[in-house]
Parts: sequence; C-alpha cells; structure tokens
Amino acid sequence: MAKPLVALLTGAGVSTDSGIPDYRGPHGLWRAEPDAEKLVTYTYYMGDPEIRRRSWRMRQALQELGAGPNAAHLAVAELERAGVPVRVITQNVDGLHQLAGLPARKVLELHGTAREVVCTRCHARGPMEDALARVAAGEDDPACRTCGGILKSATVMFGERLDPVVLGDAVAVTKACQVFVAVGSSLQVHPAAGLVDVATGHGARLVIVNAEPTPYDEAADEVIREPIGTALPKLLRRLREEDAG
Ligand code: ZN
Repeated sequence: MAKPLVALLTGAGVSTDSGIPDYRGPHGLWRAEPDAEKLVTYTYYMGDPEIRRRSWRMRQALQELGAGPNAAHLAVAELERAGVPVRVITQNVDGLHQLAGLPARKVLELHGTAREVVCTRCHARGPMEDALARVAAGEDDPACRTCGGILKSATVMFGERLDPVVLGDAVAVTKACQVFVAVGSSLQVHPAAGLVDVATGHGARLVIVNAEPTPYDEAADEVIREPIGTALPKLLRRLREEDAG
C-alpha cells in the first residue's frame, strides 16, 4: 500500500517563533508603521515612490532580523527525510521551510516569496539579497536592471491575484492527501479556508494546531492548542510512528 500523503497548511503562527512578525498581529513590526497596509497594497506601491522607499526600508529591517527556521520547520523537514510523503502549502513568504531542509519542490508558497524580487514590467526575477545590497549602497528605490521598471518583492500584495498554478497545485495536493494538518493559521481567509473544505470533502483526516479557535475546529478530527514549537514536532513524530506501524 502506498504511504499516506501528509499535507501541511502553514500560516503566520509557524514563523512567529522565528521572530518574524505577523503583520496582522498586535505586536507586529507593521503596527509601528502608519498605514502599514499601503506598503503591501499594489496600487499604492506602484503609484507612490515614498511608499516604495518605506517598503524597501521595511524589507531591510526584516532582513536584519536574520530569522532562521525554528523547531516546527525542522520537524516538517525531518518528517520528509524519514520517508513520509509530505507537501507544505504555506501562507508564509519567508522561505523558512526550505531553509530547514525541505526540498523546494515540496513547498507551495501561496503568497509568493520575500526572498526574491520581481520586476512589475518585464517580470525578471532576482534575489532579494542583491536588491537589498543596492538599497544599503544608497539606492532607496532600486529599479529593474533589465528594463528600468519598478521592482517589488515576489510576494502577492493586496490587490494582486494568487498564482493560479500554485493554487491549482495546492488544491491537487489537498485532494490527494490522507492527512491535512493546518498549523498557525486562523483559517479565516481565502484560500486557506477553502482548502480545508476541499480536504474534508475528500475524506482527509483534519488536524488543527492553532493557539486560537478557528471556524473549522468542529470539523476537525483533532484540535491542538499547545504552542506550535512543541505541538508540531510531537504530532509529526506520532504520524511517523503510525506510518511505520
Ligand atoms: Zn524589468
């Protein structure tokens, strides 16, 4: 018999232990910025050079945090190394699942990645690190080196569509999995909420790990309220043992 596929949907709560602020959370870095939402809203970003300069400074501040993978990211990578088929669907843009050792092809980034920049005109991509080195060297709003267009982080801003290919892959993984673990996500926004419906509609076992109640707790086979950093490694060890047994 084929080994059961474990799909994990990971939200901001998975990265808070790494020191990455949840910009919706009360203590987020973003709360210190007036009109923080404008920095991640496409029309404001494209229309206002001052918003772009502030965005680049915010990206610099995030880079200076030097966030690395935490126990939750490492536990997911370890599950995969143990031979359990794993796919991660993430709402996070920090790339920490991959840094923890999970192969990039096993991670679907619903909201893109902050580790790359993309040109809004010619769609050329490059490392965020290089763009931030230009900011550090004095360019406060670095332009695309290929065409001179406006550069942005390769994340999905408010007012932008999710990548339909990534979303399609996420739905396919959700339909195919036997276990669906939603971690650190409030499950209140699309597409996260819709994916949970797909998972339960296809008979997957649903496990929710989240500090706060979610709209799907009633539908879940198991709800875990412990801190993610201890709860997720424990849960994934249990899934491994079930898999082996
Ligand atoms: Zn360009």
